[in-house]
Amino acid sequence: MSKKLIVITGASSGFGLELAKEFAAQNYPMLLIARRTENLHAFNFKNTLIKSVDVADYQAFQNAILEAETLYGKTDLLVNNAGVMLLGSLLDQNPDEWQTMLNVNVTGVLNGIQLVLKDMVATNTGTIVNVSSIAGKKTFGSHAAYCGTKFAVHALTETVRQEVALSNVRVLTVAPGAAETALLSHTTSQDIIDGYNEWKETMGGKSLDPKYIASSVRFMYELPQEVSIRELVISATRQD
Ligand code: NDP
Repeated sequence: MSKKLIVITGASSGFGLELAKEFAAQNYPMLLIARRTENLHAFNFKNTLIKSVDVADYQAFQNAILEAETLYGKTDLLVNNAGVMLLGSLLDQNPDEWQTMLNVNVTGVLNGIQLVLKDMVATNTGTIVNVSSIAGKKTFGSHAAYCGTKFAVHALTETVRQEVALSNVRVLTVAPGAAETALLSHTTSQDIIDGYNEWKETMGGKSLDPKYIASSVRFMYELPQEVSIRELVISATRQD
């Protein structure tokens, strides 16, 4: 049976790039989305459309999906992975920072879901994986806005899962622990970055390797359509 289209957001870095490599190695056709796409072109992935899109821009996101579906057929897996973490205390955090996180981490996920869900429900197949975080299950200092967006990902995913369960469409959450990616680098407070890195030292300096997020998502996807791992929490064993 020929492989169906996989859409990955936030594919230019971290988990998203590992996901792209994981699925490319299995010859899936892909749509890869991020705002920066130069590095993605260098991989020369086969059967892959790369589009520079801000996931908060519904129209641009829709145009990219429609273009990919014209080339490769309907989306069978959407990984809503794009995300931003700008840590800060609400005592002094710049409101632009939480607006950015809400736009990408929440609106971007809602956009992605709506853009593929109708066709999936109509055909009684398809999978959506939303990347949340352990910070979507428990709180951490200086994470108020980020935790707010990630708790929202769990809530909205579970709501949609229940709504469409009878159609056999899977709507799943992956909640990773701390991993080595560029995520922390966008936080503007050096004190918070230093504190985060000190906390990571409690894991013996080894947080989760992003390749395990990619292989876990592929495992969830390649299970038979009638089987759902609704929520996967995955971290370095040493994370508290
Ligand atoms: P990275 O910063 O390495 O990657 C984030 C990706 O999101 C980049 O490809 C970035 O691309 C993309 N992105 C950001 N904003 C937008 C936007 N507006 N539109 C489209 N793409 C966007 O971080 P991670 O790989 O770590 O993060 C991936 C996901 O994993 C996020 O949702 C994050 O919250 C979550 N996560 C990460 C953990 C970690 O410790 N690393 C732990 C738990 C969850 P570009 O800038 O080119 O647009």
